[in-house]
Amino acid sequence: MDPKVAAAPAAGATARIAKATLLRLAQSRLEPTPENYAKAWIESGGAPARGSDAEGQAWAGLVDQLVRGLERRDRAWTSARKKESVQRVLDGSRSHPQRLRERLSQLIGSWQSDEADAPVQTQPAELSPTTHAPSMNAPLASPAAAQDGHWPALASQLGLTVRAGLPEEEPAATALMQALAAHAQQWERDGSDAALVDAVQATCAEARRVFAQRHHLVGELGRLVRSLTEGLTDLAEDDSWARGQADAMRARLDEGALSVRGVRSAADLLTQTRRQQQRLKAERDRARAALRALVESLAAELEALGGQTGRFGDELVRCTDDLEHADSREQLAAVVHQMLSASRQVQTEVAEASARLASGRAQADTLNARVRELEGELKRLSDEVSTDALTQVANRRGLAQAFEREQARCERETSPLAVGLLDIDNFKKLNDSLGHAAGDVALKALATQVRDALRPADHVARFGGEEFVVLLPGTALDEAQEVLTRVQRNLSMALFMHDGQEVFVTFSAGVTAWRAGEALDDTIERADAALYEAKRAGKNRTCAA
Ligand code: GH3
Ligand code: MG
Ligand code: MG
Repeated sequence: MDPKVAAAPAAGATARIAKATLLRLAQSRLEPTPENYAKAWIESGGAPARGSDAEGQAWAGLVDQLVRGLERRDRAWTSARKKESVQRVLDGSRSHPQRLRERLSQLIGSWQSDEADAPVQTQPAELSPTTHAPSMNAPLASPAAAQDGHWPALASQLGLTVRAGLPEEEPAATALMQALAAHAQQWERDGSDAALVDAVQATCAEARRVFAQRHHLVGELGRLVRSLTEGLTDLAEDDSWARGQADAMRARLDEGALSVRGVRSAADLLTQTRRQQQRLKAERDRARAALRALVESLAAELEALGGQTGRFGDELVRCTDDLEHADSREQLAAVVHQMLSASRQVQTEVAEASARLASGRAQADTLNARVRELEGELKRLSDEVSTDALTQVANRRGLAQAFEREQARCERETSPLAVGLLDIDNFKKLNDSLGHAAGDVALKALATQVRDALRPADHVARFGGEEFVVLLPGTALDEAQEVLTRVQRNLSMALFMHDGQEVFVTFSAGVTAWRAGEALDDTIERADAALYEAKRAGKNRTCAA
């Protein structure tokens, strides 16, 4: 279009031209400079910018910011989410250029402000609180206020909630978001009325139905995993080696509601054990095959031996016939010679076969012992894995595995790793007064509460008896001391019931920072010294070393 003949666009058309300009810039991959924007603006049917054309300048600046914002990697805003929110603003305000510009500007601002302080993986609001779209936490001042501009922001919040609650590929999520966007558009066009409120309520009811269906699906999946776990022992040809895993899996799945941590640790457990078991099973199968081949060769040997002794018997029958017909000394001597040679031959063959059988038997015994040993190892592996059977947190083996992983990561990322040693206070007294079974319940309760109080990336392991080790990756020493003190305070408020009595459990802890290259035992020894300090200072506290 010839810029000289382009008429100045009407206010409503400005938004359309701005949108076309954005598309043109994106498609031609031009640098978003004000000059390029002005050119694209004219090409899209906009009037050429005059020195006094403040609106064009403002749009150019806004597009510049928008393109840069889209290109920038923000922590809380994915590129897809940014594009989606731009689209929503365009859809909602295309007929109000002034509002469109304000909304786009607010949106760009929210990307920038969220970049600085939004935690990773949060679901950001589409827009920051503004005069047009107040914070969702702020109560609506009056119905009039709602009329005044809350609606699109509310619909947008609902849409984002639906999107966050359902998987990307779920068609129901797209349908619900479209319905909410349509409600917002309707509000902008016609204002709100009872029919619109009904429509929004119906959409929300539909969203609740879809969510309920997904909860049901997750519940069913949990049940499926449970039944697979139970089937594991039935499917294994010898269930002894599978039982330990099945029990550990069931314990994790039975920890009340299905938790991400529970499912993940069950999956880790299976992966680790399966790898080792595959190796052992392959070796056992080879030993079994060798044993079978040996038994077959021994059977063939015996059969051959049977043939030889049969031939010897025939030879003897023949010799007896010859004896009956022998009537001279020479003939007699020949028969005896024949008998002796047949008997010598069979003796040699039998002796050789016996030697072979004896060596085969020794070999079979060795292979048998190896098969038994491998099967024992499979069972032990399943029983021990890396979890403590009583408390269902890691055992020493699980701790060593976790430390190996964390050590590598901390060295790679040069981030700190705090190590804490926890010891239950006056545990002997608890055992003595309430019995060992109550002691076991207390151990389980403590392990669960400590684990639940820490972050998913932290590790808790039973180190032995009533001692636990925690690994806190990415945590400095003073922070780790605060974390454990907080766990202690929470635990002081928690209690468990035993035979109708309230039982409180406290622990003391020593915490230290792992030093690069240091063996875990050495770090724990330092933590132990700090733990001793904590006990001496009156227990139920955390000391650092
Ligand atoms: P302190 O506050 O100084 O730590 O005193 P304590 O009584 O806790 O310490 P001590 O080391 O003297 O006692 C630890 C007790 O923990 C002794 C042992 O019987 C008990 N214990 C160790 N493992 C288990 C277990 O698996 N179950 C139960 N019920 N008790 C255990
Ligand atoms: Mg102790
Ligand atoms: Mg103790």
